[in-house]
Amino acid sequence: MPKCPKCVKEVYFAERVSYHGKDWHKSCLKCGKCNKTLTAGSFSEHSGQPYCTTPCYGALFGPKGYGHGGTESHAYS
Ligand SMILES: [Zn+2]
Ligand SMILES: [Zn+2]
Repeated sequence: MPKCPKCVKEVYFAERVSYHGKDWHKSCLKCGKCNKTLTAGSFSEHSGQPYCTTPCYGALFGPKGYGHGGTESHAYS
C-alpha cells in the first residue's frame, strides 16, 4: 500500500491521487495558497507544491505575479 507523502498514512485506491510520482489522499493534495482541495488536472506545481492553476498559480507565478517582490515570503502561510 503506498503512503501519502503529506500525512504518511496508507492511501487506498478510492482516495488516491497520483501526483509527482507519488500517491496522495485526495484530501491531502491542497493548494499551497488558498488551501483548497485539488483534483487531478486542475492544478499546477511549483517547487514541489501544488496550486490551483487558476487563480492561485497564475497569481503567484504567472506573468502578473512577477514584479511584486518577496515571492518566497508569500508562498506559504
Ligand atoms: Zn494523506
Ligand atoms: Zn488555490
